[in-house]
Amino acid sequence: MKCLLAALNMALLMAGCGGSDSPQESEDNSFNASFIAKCEACGNGISKQAEECPRCRHPNPIPIAVLKGKADEKQRLAQLEVKRLEGEHAKRLAEMEKKALAEMKAQALAKMEANKREKAANDASKQKRKPATTLLDLEVIGGERNPRK
Ligand SMILES: [Zn+2]
Repeated sequence: MKCLLAALNMALLMAGCGGSDSPQESEDNSFNASFIAKCEACGNGISKQAEECPRCRHPNPIPIAVLKGKADEKQRLAQLEVKRLEGEHAKRLAEMEKKALAEMKAQALAKMEANKREKAANDASKQKRKPATTLLDLEVIGGERNPRK
């Protein structure tokens, strides 16, 4: 039993080693391929980041393209940022408008409520007929001559 386990472990180890060997190699290849370019003029392998071929001084188009791509990306990002800011601004404006509207509505409601209350108070005071303070009131309270009764 112990022997079988050991053999299994050995097989696993070997399989693990064999498996990890090949992808590492291909990774190295892709790593090289993505950083090394071929000179258009002389075929010399040059760094993609080199601006010209070290052998023939032929300009390397890749860094220019990369730089252009970076510039484009930067512009795109800047535009996105502007759009984002515009969106935020619009959102903030909308929120402010909403808030202002809500405030106006609340104020209008409060005013209406106050008016209503004032009217109710007036009505109540009219109905209560406080002690007369003017001649007219005295006449009205006097009673008999009140045409409204
Ligand atoms: Zn060259």
